[in-house]
Formats: sequence, C-alpha cells, structure tokens
Amino acid sequence: MKGIADILRAASFAAKKHTDQKRKGNDDQPYINHPLEVANMLVNIGGVSDPDIIVAALLHDTVEDTEATFDEIAEQFGITVAGYVREVTDDKSLPKAERKQKQVEHAPHLSQGAKQIKLGDKISNIRDVTDNPPEGWDLQRRREYVDWGEKVVAGLRGANAELEKVFDETVEKARRRLASAATQS
Ligand code: ZN
Repeated sequence: MKGIADILRAASFAAKKHTDQKRKGNDDQPYINHPLEVANMLVNIGGVSDPDIIVAALLHDTVEDTEATFDEIAEQFGITVAGYVREVTDDKSLPKAERKQKQVEHAPHLSQGAKQIKLGDKISNIRDVTDNPPEGWDLQRRREYVDWGEKVVAGLRGANAELEKVFDETVEKARRRLASAATQS
C-alpha cells in the first residue's frame, strides 16, 4: 500500500523532471506548480484518498512533456500508477488537432482514476488560459480552448461531483472574463 512517502517521492520526481520548464502562461510560473495544483485539488476538493491516483496526478505530465518514460514510472511507482499516467498522456506523434479530438473521444472510456486526474488538469489549464494566457493567444483562441475543455469534460461526468462543480464554476468565470475583456478592447 502506498502512502505519504510515495506521494512526496512523486512530487520530488516530477519537480526534477520539470525543473527547467515554465508554464505557457504570461506569468512565467514554474511548470511544477501545475501538477502540484492538480494533485492538491484532487485531495482537497475531490476528496480523493487513493495514493496511486494522487501519485499519478503528480506525474501526469512527466512522460508527455519531459524525458521520463512509462517504464521508469512503472519501476519506481508501480504499474497501476504507470497505467493512469499512460491514460492521460497524449500521443505526441499525432498532429495537435487530432490529439485534441482524441481527448474528447477517449474521455468516456478512461478509468475512474484517470477521469479524476483529467478533471483536475482541465480546471488548472482553463484557469491558466483565462488568468495568464500564453503569449499571442487572442480572445478567440482562449474561447476555443474553454469550449474544447468542456467537450472533454462532458465525457468525464460522473467521476467526481465536487471536481465537476469546480470545473463548471471555472468555465463560467472564464466566459465572464473573456466576455468583459472583449467589450474592453
Ligand atoms: Zn497537465
């Protein structure tokens, strides 16, 4: 049975893997803030207590965005964790539009654990795109991002009511902010 020791080991592993990376946003946040935020939401909003899911939340972007491998994760954190990470990792050999479409299609077929990680991920990403948009993202692109996030989350419904509630509030706030930004410009 995993516990606090593994959760901290995963946080440290992710921090090392993402060490030179920043989030895409205009506020230059260290990348690690994002997996920490996702894991924190899972536990403190979603009430998730399964250490494998919490560990996988911390590691969820390490294979997609760093040189970490599924084998390395399986060896250090076990095959259940590696399985969750695999479920939420995009195939980067595909063009971006196809990857985004696949996320919408795959969402309903994910395990309960992966669905909850993805809910936290989408809340964190939509917050960032609304509050600290990446350089060069105009309002239209930000609106499309929120619309796409909603399509993915439509397939995750039923996995965690509390996270879904926060997702809905986040989308509502994002739309209000983007609408008021549109009238100001
Ligand atoms: Zn992520």
